[in-house]
Amino acid sequence: MIDGGAYSRWFSGLDPWQQSVLVTIVAVLCADILTLVFYSLFFADRLVLDLVLTAVITFAVAFPISWLFMGQSTRVARLVEELREASQTDHLTRLANRREFMASVGTLISASKCPHGAGTLLFIDADHFKKINDTCGHGVGDRVLVALGAVIRDSLRSADVAARMGGEEFAVFLNGTDTAAAQVVAERIRTRVHPIAESMDLAQVGVTVSIGIARHRNGQDLDDVLRAADRSLYVAKERGRDRVVRDIDMFPAA
Ligand code: GH3
Ligand code: MG
Ligand code: MG
Repeated sequence: MIDGGAYSRWFSGLDPWQQSVLVTIVAVLCADILTLVFYSLFFADRLVLDLVLTAVITFAVAFPISWLFMGQSTRVARLVEELREASQTDHLTRLANRREFMASVGTLISASKCPHGAGTLLFIDADHFKKINDTCGHGVGDRVLVALGAVIRDSLRSADVAARMGGEEFAVFLNGTDTAAAQVVAERIRTRVHPIAESMDLAQVGVTVSIGIARHRNGQDLDDVLRAADRSLYVAKERGRDRVVRDIDMFPAA
């Protein structure tokens, strides 16, 4: 059976000039077949000349038109891809944005069949970030956010999802990971943030993060886990910042 979708994907993968050549060859063949049928019935003596003329005329018309259309449709496809990526990405850190995080982690949670839950969420917030902006300027603050995004990205596996949720807040979903393993990742992120201050000459203000951890439990949706991680984060701030707090530390029986 002919797989129309596969042919369409194969055609879209060609360069515009390859698409144009292919369309032109098909147009010339079709035009010549029609000429062949028509002239072999009515004007058999002019058949060869008319076949050549039909091919030349069809080529002259079809190639520029298909070149134009194929070039346009390739540009539109590229734009659609760029727009899709822009709508899912945080422009500053190049991590996922909040919308993409909610969509992809929501899907992971609803697809999870693990009886112990889908994974563990880290809610990461830069400490006293306002002070960095106020002391060093918004531009430096932006560069710190980029550096935080890089630390988070480099500390994860490909199965995990990391996003900038807004402002100086990040979230990470560690897919299929329990609280103990998540704590190791969170501590790795927290300690890898420390050298940022020195490398950016910000030792006087310091750059640290507080991290709240919450395990997804069966029956919970993503909002439930985000709320639990936010509560852990609040406790981490209360206890003095630059630390990791797990939900089970606050509710040992849970
Ligand atoms: P805490 O330790 O309690 O989290 O204190 P904080 O100062 O980090 O928290 P607060 O919510 O008071 O301030 C967050 C600051 O983050 C204020 C805001 O101007 C800054 N901010 C938010 N988005 C951006 C951004 O895109 N770039 C920069 N440079 N700053 C931002
Ligand atoms: Mg903060
Ligand atoms: Mg905050």
